[in-house]
Amino acid sequence: MQKQDYIVSVSVNAPIDNSLSYVCDIENLPVGSAVEVPLGKRKVNGIVLGKEAFKEAEYELKKVQCISETRPQLNQKFISWCQWLSKYYFYPLGVVLDLAYPPLKKHGRKTKHVVVPEITQSHAPSYTDEQKKVIDDISKINSFNVHLLHGVTGSGKTEVYLKLIENCLNQDKTAIVLVPEISLTPQLLNRFAARYPDDVAIIHSQLTAREKTNQWWSAYDKKKRILIGARSALFCPVKDIGLIIIDEEHESSYKQDEKLKYNGRDAAIMLAKIHDCPIVLGSATPSLETYKNAVSGKFQYHEMSQRVHQQNMPEMKVIDLKKERENRGNVDLPFWLSESLHSAIDMSLKNSKQTALFLNRRGLAQSVVCPDCSFVYMCPNCEISLTLHNKSDLVCHYCEYTEQYTDNCPSCDSLEIKPLGLGTEKIEKDISELFPDARVERVDRDKVINRHQLEDIINRMESNEIDILIGTQMIAKGLDFKNLQTVGLVLADVGFNLPNFRSSERSFQLITQVSGRAGRNADDPGKVIIQAYNTEHPSIVHALKNDFKGFCESELNVREKLNYPPYGKLAVVKFSSNHPNKLQSSQTKLQHFNQKYIEKHPENLRILGPGQAPFYRLKNRFRHQMIVTSRQYSHLQHYCQYLLANKKNIFDSQVKVLVDIDPLNMM
Ligand code: ADP
Ligand code: ZN
Ligand code: ZN
Repeated sequence: MQKQDYIVSVSVNAPIDNSLSYVCDIENLPVGSAVEVPLGKRKVNGIVLGKEAFKEAEYELKKVQCISETRPQLNQKFISWCQWLSKYYFYPLGVVLDLAYPPLKKHGRKTKHVVVPEITQSHAPSYTDEQKKVIDDISKINSFNVHLLHGVTGSGKTEVYLKLIENCLNQDKTAIVLVPEISLTPQLLNRFAARYPDDVAIIHSQLTAREKTNQWWSAYDKKKRILIGARSALFCPVKDIGLIIIDEEHESSYKQDEKLKYNGRDAAIMLAKIHDCPIVLGSATPSLETYKNAVSGKFQYHEMSQRVHQQNMPEMKVIDLKKERENRGNVDLPFWLSESLHSAIDMSLKNSKQTALFLNRRGLAQSVVCPDCSFVYMCPNCEISLTLHNKSDLVCHYCEYTEQYTDNCPSCDSLEIKPLGLGTEKIEKDISELFPDARVERVDRDKVINRHQLEDIINRMESNEIDILIGTQMIAKGLDFKNLQTVGLVLADVGFNLPNFRSSERSFQLITQVSGRAGRNADDPGKVIIQAYNTEHPSIVHALKNDFKGFCESELNVREKLNYPPYGKLAVVKFSSNHPNKLQSSQTKLQHFNQKYIEKHPENLRILGPGQAPFYRLKNRFRHQMIVTSRQYSHLQHYCQYLLANKKNIFDSQVKVLVDIDPLNMM
């Protein structure tokens, strides 16, 4: 042992809750340094969290092997943020910290692709009164503040972001802009790159490892001071953050559903707090969580209610598909197409205008059912019916299992077996038959699997090479087409009855979003047709009146009664196994554990379940879950911590347990 040796605590990239102590003889090893250390027989990456003088330990501590040369030091603010993530979402700190680094070494080949578009510089417009007010109000305070920018689509939110970024760059600080992955289209990136050439870095999941690494370094080194990206961009340890923007803050895609199950929006708020800088959450349909925080004064509320280029919102019409069926004149139309929507499409075609049709369901038919024996094609691995694609492929939308569809029922041989329900593929087929001269294109996950394909379709939409665009919610987000006149939501009911307390909120958002796609042209407000079976559903009624506040009031009422977010905090404990009997015995132990816990802390929690998850079997794994609600996060945290500490006593070793805090997916 040398005199200058000391002890460092290192958070290692392994599923371990605490940091580990190592002996170190490297001179001047600052906190935040990335090191390589031995762990068992392996060598793992870790981050130095603290140092202390050497004391004679009872056992022989292992030694820090080296500083990782390719991994630069992390700043203290970033580390604090990771510590919060780790604690809040119950995920090992060392694994969280490891997410900070890009996939490759700094210096490598130049990339062929241009990640950030090169484009002629644009200039700020003269702002509308609403924009001016919002910019002034937000710029007033430079410290941590959460701002909700609630602005209808086309009200000029993006211009507000661009201006706020200018103020931030003028103080030589950096800005992070988060958008949902799917909105990272050239349409959006061009606007940022055009205003701030040479200052934009971009991080999203479709970049190559080399591209991602280069973008990461340009943001880390502050060569580019604006980082735009999907939620994972938060893990780039940018210095001197002066502003964070979360566009479409209500988007469920900000929540990561696996591993570290964080919500990018909430994590960004914490990052802003640590950097003591303002954060702006923008949306035309804010989430109820955010809206309630704005109403209660925790967040600052800013509203923009006017579209920049025109006063009129598109004409909106709801069609009751039940009545339509009874009174239909034109019997040749497919069952899902009302006469109103049909004639609107026809009109737009005649006027050389575009149509977009939305349906949140892929395929030709949702399930194939035999009317004689009620046989349904099911996935053998999952408890889900198979969806028909391409006339003869039956596909599981969860595990991608496929089998061939035959004309007779595999169970009773009946020839009556037939596809039921509706998907985007079916709409495409019917529309092409009804309008044989129209140029029809479809956008969904079956057809458009990478961003180049999506970009190609956007380009062809912009240059009027497409007449009718059919798609899932993939195309409902952030796209802006001047020549789009008719927008149809084919079946608004799709989301209503999902067993999720957020389904009304989602439907309201989708209807509003879809409507916002129309009327982007000043001379033509456009037309939105919403088809539904349940036309009295609150999400339709309020969306139709453009009554966001009314919707929130009614929905918040429901949530308060049930103690659901934003009133209560929620956690889902999911446990799954390949062995249903082990799952069952673990569940019995869990029930005992819960009983004892509730006896000790009777006021703190409500526990729903445990029981089978709505999708009991997926990919051949059996799934149980339990929902825990509380008025206070601290109570939830206490319970989850205690549960995880007792994990080994409750759950069989072949049962996997996960805690999901603020869950969105409870299926
Ligand atoms: P949002 O993000 O709220 O949907 P955008 O910022 O995209 O709105 O603005 C909608 C359209 O209006 C865009 O084409 C944008 O360039 C334009 N725009 C925004 N603000 C102004 C302004 N003050 N003057 C002129 N055009 C503007
Ligand atoms: Zn399956
Ligand atoms: Zn049958």
